[in-house]
Parts: sequence; structure tokens; C-alpha cells
Amino acid sequence: MFPTRPEDLWTQLFAPEEKGRADILIAGERILAVGPDLTAVLPDMEVIDASGLLAAPGLFDLHMHVTGGGGAGGSFSRAPEVGVSELVAAGTTCVTGVLGTDVISRSLKNLLAKVRGLAASGINAWMYTSNYRYPPVSITHSIMDDIYCIPECVGVKVALGDTLGSFADMQSILMLASDVQLAGTLSGKRGILHVHLGDQTATFDLFDEMQARGYAVARHVLPTHCGRSPEIFERACVFARAGGMIDFTTGGGCACEPAARSVMRALEAGVPGRSITLSTDAHGAKPRLDAAGRRKGFEVIPVGANLQTVRDLVGAGLPIGQALAFVTRNPAEHLGLPGQGVIETGACANVCLFTEDLVPVCVISRGVMMMQGGEILVKGIYE
Ligand SMILES: [Zn+2]
Repeated sequence: MFPTRPEDLWTQLFAPEEKGRADILIAGERILAVGPDLTAVLPDMEVIDASGLLAAPGLFDLHMHVTGGGGAGGSFSRAPEVGVSELVAAGTTCVTGVLGTDVISRSLKNLLAKVRGLAASGINAWMYTSNYRYPPVSITHSIMDDIYCIPECVGVKVALGDTLGSFADMQSILMLASDVQLAGTLSGKRGILHVHLGDQTATFDLFDEMQARGYAVARHVLPTHCGRSPEIFERACVFARAGGMIDFTTGGGCACEPAARSVMRALEAGVPGRSITLSTDAHGAKPRLDAAGRRKGFEVIPVGANLQTVRDLVGAGLPIGQALAFVTRNPAEHLGLPGQGVIETGACANVCLFTEDLVPVCVISRGVMMMQGGEILVKGIYE
């Protein structure tokens, strides 16, 4: 059933913790069993020979402009939406869609439709309601109802400390955070306040104040763009050492250095690895510069930025399992989605097989074979 293989050709499992050699048994959308030397007899069972490859959870990207971001250079600079095949090519099986700066021409219903379209193609897809501004916007005209009534909605996004945000005051953010927590509790979700950090470090003073008033900041507040400036990075490290979750952006634009360097410096500064996630900001726009550093237009932030950062981290000496955790287990854990981002019995069947250079050759999402032998099998219907 499972072919006999020489010792060095066994599949090395990173669940994302390194587990050594293993087989993975999948039925429908679930992982039924994980371990060495599995045997199983099931009708029409397909055996994938993964000898010599690394098996890891499908990548989880918790901040992606799936409907296209950009627009900050005028309407010609609106970025296109993401295609299913781009996600598959990068080994991304789980994504949380987000709206961005363009609060005028981009709508939440469009985001929900896109998320559901991705799900219909086999991708695990969620979203945050609202966008950049305060007061927040919603589909049902209530943030709490969005979280409660829309299964895909894991929380709310807001921009803080950013001149394009709304300079919302302490009381407003406390009320929003409280709504998120209550609606999360009532709907059986974690309830996340996903914060786009601007350049102003006072946002972390606001988090401290929320904490002082008894709000469970570490459980519900997830700030992103934590490497956008040296000052924000320093405050984010303090925040994470006190138990907070922090997210570094891998796709450029909202980062002052490569994300791998931020992660290595955060770890050296005593931030627990479990507190860190990486997200791409993909399909947002970043400036395209000429050789002299002048802006020559825009380019779309690539979906593959998380995987490239994992490669960079491994190149910098981080063990593969630790590097993979930032884009698999940790984001699922931080968003409160059990059974996602891990390879274990009962988990959702999201599995990537990589070469030792971390090039995906096989991608399974919710039990569906999306890529096999390096060939993308599932694309969007217009791709
Ligand atoms: Zn973004």
C-alpha cells in the first residue's frame, strides 16, 4: 500500500514542528492519521509518493488584499484581485482577505463574494470586516452582527496611528474592541481587532491603556506592519514580550527592512517565536522604483512573499519548522482557528510537499489536490 523506501527518501514531516519521517492519511477534508509506516485499505485510495520531499501545512496568509488593494496613486493604480493559481503556486491554502486604504471604491460585499469564490475553488478563506477608517463600516450595518452572522468574518480591521486613518480616540477603540470580543464570544469565534499600524508609536500607548483598563489585548488585538519603522519595531517587541501577537509584512511597502531580518532581530530581542506571524499584504500595491530610487509606477505585492521569507529565514540559520510556524500554525492560532495551520489527526487537510529548497511540488487544500508534480491543477474559472 505504502511503498517501501530507502531511509533517506522518507518524507520529512514539519507539522510545523519537525516530526521526522511520516505518512499522512487524508479522507475528504480531514487528516485521519499521521505517523510512520501507516497502513490503510480504503476504496479508491490514492497513494502519493512523497519520498525525498518535505511535508508541511499549507501556508496561512492572514492579511491579503484578495480583491486588490492599491489606489493611493489615483484610480489607475487600483491593484487587480488575486487568482486561485497564484495562491496554489505559493503553497498558500489559507487566506484572510482585507480591505485597505481605498475605502471609497472597494466594498465589503465584494470582499465577501471573493472570499466565497476562493472557498468554492478549494481555498480556506476568511475576512475582516470594515477597512481603514473609524467609524467602521460593515455588511449588516453592525460590526457585531457581521462577526456573528457571517461565518467567514473573523474580526474587524482598523488603521491606527496612520494619517490616512481617522484618528479614532481611546473610548471609540475601546468600544470597538469590546464589540469584537462580545460578538466573538457569542459566535464561538476568537474575535480579532486587526490593526494596521501607521508610523505613530502612540498606538502602542493606546494598547497599554486598553490593557490597563482590563481589556484582553493579547488575545484579541493583532497589529500588522510591525516592521514598518525602527520605532514601531521596538514598541512591537515590547508588546510581544508582554504576551501580545505581532505580524510582520513580507511583501514590502509597509516594512523598512526585509521581514526575515525583522524576525531574526525580534527573536534575538527575546520575543517568543509563538507570538510572531508573517503576512504578505499581497495584491496591495508598492512603488516601483528606478535605479535612482525614483517612483516609476506601482507593482502588485506578490503572494509568494511569505514563502520567500521562510526561505530567507532558513538561509539565516533558523530551523525549517520554526520558520514555517510563522506562516502556518501561528496565524491559525492567533485568529483562533483550531485544526488549521497544522498537520495532525483531525486537522483540516491542507498539506504542501516541498523540495528541500522549499519549492512546492504538491499542494492539497481541504483535501483537494490543487498542485501535483509541480503542475497547478485547480485554477479560477477565468484563468
Ligand atoms: Zn494591507
